[in-house]
Amino acid sequence: MLRAGFAALAYLMIPVMVFTGPVSALAAVEAIDQSPGYKPEEDTDEGGLWMMVEDAERATKRSPLLVKDEALNTYVRTLTCRLAGPHCGSIRVYVLDIPHFNAAMYPNGMMHVWTGLLVRAENEAQLAFVLGHEIGHYLERHSLERFRKAKNTSNFLAFFSLIAAGAGVGIAADLATLIALGALFSYSRDQEREADARGFDSLVQHSLDPRAGAAIWSNLIEEDDAAPRKRRSPFFSTHPSPKERFETLTARADEIASFAGETVLGTQRHREAILPHRLAWLLGELKRAAYDEHLVLAERLLQTEPRSGELLFFKGEIYRKRNEEGDLEAARAIYERAILQPDVPVEAHRSLGLTALKLKNNALARRSFETYLERRPDADDRQMIEFYLQQL
Ligand SMILES: [Zn+2]
Repeated sequence: MLRAGFAALAYLMIPVMVFTGPVSALAAVEAIDQSPGYKPEEDTDEGGLWMMVEDAERATKRSPLLVKDEALNTYVRTLTCRLAGPHCGSIRVYVLDIPHFNAAMYPNGMMHVWTGLLVRAENEAQLAFVLGHEIGHYLERHSLERFRKAKNTSNFLAFFSLIAAGAGVGIAADLATLIALGALFSYSRDQEREADARGFDSLVQHSLDPRAGAAIWSNLIEEDDAAPRKRRSPFFSTHPSPKERFETLTARADEIASFAGETVLGTQRHREAILPHRLAWLLGELKRAAYDEHLVLAERLLQTEPRSGELLFFKGEIYRKRNEEGDLEAARAIYERAILQPDVPVEAHRSLGLTALKLKNNALARRSFETYLERRPDADDRQMIEFYLQQL
């Protein structure tokens, strides 16, 4: 189920949050904003659309994937509010623990932010670009336009009748539902273009680094390039080149660079907000088993924090789990560096022990397992580790 879900995800994530260009360098976004607090009449097609999405929102609130941490939610919501201005009260942010880069906006102001986005954004400005892009979809009422084209398709109605049936009995949105929901609310290339312009304008308006949009895009390209061909998202092969889009966003940033004044990245604020969750989210990424892509992510994060014990542990885990020629040796070397760092997770000792076991380095395995049990006396897997120790 999970594997199927994620195989689909590589495709499904694409239409929701895309940087389709080119965006004209000085394109002013035509303002067709809905007024703050806008709500459609119930007997209109838009009213019907909102009602359906309200059921999905109730299911989102009960989702086991919902990240409830108050500090993290405050960080994302405060930034969203700043960018949304007078529309702040109309947009509700739900952080969902899904290890893939994505954010999605729904017509009634429900916004999903996936943890795969939070862990990939390097700073507040990069996150703001994506949030600004999503707010753009909301203000332009893009989903209504799409709905009017798609409402007769059986998929759309079948999906929502499922949600509505479940809503009465307290359905909680699972991974498959959330992915399907995101896919239903995909946008056209022109709409993505408009949303991109909105995202870029958000940065400029709020004195955030205007290069952040291009930066997050270039990081995503790097990850996708590392994926084996068959895994690559169709988006990358069927749309204009990512390089072109990156260049478009860079060109817009260049245009305003001379009069942008002092801009903010917000690296520290972003890091503080995500740090309590980062390791869990990174380890969650490994469920996708996209090891070549994970390595790109690990390397990039390590560039700014080369001595981070948890990032070194993450990198070691990638090699250990990929387990190709030479990987175990590489994992061992990385774990040995990791355990010297003060912020290393205790699990690094266990992983080092398991790796040493496979490498038939019994002395290292013993030392590592003993350290693990010493530092985590109530470990769930104590019996298993003691069993290994007996074999050594
Ligand atoms: Zn979009």
